[in-house]
Amino acid sequence: MHPEQILDYLLSQDQEQMQQLIKQAGQVRDAQRGRQIYLRGLIEISNQCSYDCLYCGIRNSHHHLTRYRLDRDTIIQLALFIWQQGYHSICLQSGQIDDPDWLAELVDIVAQIKIQTRQLDPEGRGLGITLSLGELSPAQYQEFFDAGAHRYLLRIESSNPDLFASIHPPHQSYDQRIECLYQLKSIGYQVGTGIMIGLPGQNAHHLLQDLDFFKQLDVDMLGMGPYIPHPDAPLYRSHKPVYLDPYLSTLKMLALCRITMPDINMVASTALQSMHPQGLQRGLEAGANVVMPVLTPDDVREQYNLYTGKKNSSGEKLLAAIRALGYEPGLYTWGDAPHYHKRLQHR
Ligand code: SF4
Repeated sequence: MHPEQILDYLLSQDQEQMQQLIKQAGQVRDAQRGRQIYLRGLIEISNQCSYDCLYCGIRNSHHHLTRYRLDRDTIIQLALFIWQQGYHSICLQSGQIDDPDWLAELVDIVAQIKIQTRQLDPEGRGLGITLSLGELSPAQYQEFFDAGAHRYLLRIESSNPDLFASIHPPHQSYDQRIECLYQLKSIGYQVGTGIMIGLPGQNAHHLLQDLDFFKQLDVDMLGMGPYIPHPDAPLYRSHKPVYLDPYLSTLKMLALCRITMPDINMVASTALQSMHPQGLQRGLEAGANVVMPVLTPDDVREQYNLYTGKKNSSGEKLLAAIRALGYEPGLYTWGDAPHYHKRLQHR
């Protein structure tokens, strides 16, 4: 698809054109990836964060929050529980970690999860482990990889340096984020990134630039979601105009990314599901093929409050919803993106 055509879709208000776009994306997903929707059991291991993103409900400056950190046994037991549920992939997520001792313990936890779940797996693969722990050093990324993690999510939020700067404090660097993404790739991770859509000051040209960025980075996975303001976060009080409808523009981006990058994995994000009652359905129709059931323990779940109204879709209800929409939950499989394996062949 030519850039002009992509821009035309992003700018269009024509409902029929949008329906056609989503239909085409769904057909591409069905042809390339089938109707299986892969599951990543999400464990939000800590809401501690040393960063201060201007949009985020758990940023470091929010001193009124109760901070938590799950202990080693809880994380390992949850991972085993997730395995028993038939979800063969987990995602461990936290805020930005600046405690080397905690990171070292996490490396060991990842290794333990792999060892214990490999013993339960006749094929000896164990749980697929995705990490989303922010910007770490190359050595730390390598340690996690050696311990058995094989996917990493690090969202760029916006690939436009000026827009990135407008939603982050000055000490959080765009260049550092980019460098981390390339380091993850060179280590051998399946790499995912993503953006927020509907940010103050963001327009269709920014989204076109993001799509180009995803292709240049040659991503394996994408996690894109609408920007949902948090009233305690500074970006809530931005006076910049909002040009994009966060929900509709997210659906368009999902569809455009599926059509132009057919073999990657794309998540129907929790934010998309939180923003609209039909968010899951529409996200899958637009070409998403991954969902992330939240398996964080109930007693701390509310404290991982990235944005207002966060929906915690989990368990049987989510599987039933996927089936009711005519898809099959991808149980007992990692559900890797074929793009990753193709990428390795061309190394
Ligand atoms: S978005 Fe992530 S890194 Fe940024 S403040 Fe929130 S938890 Fe921390």
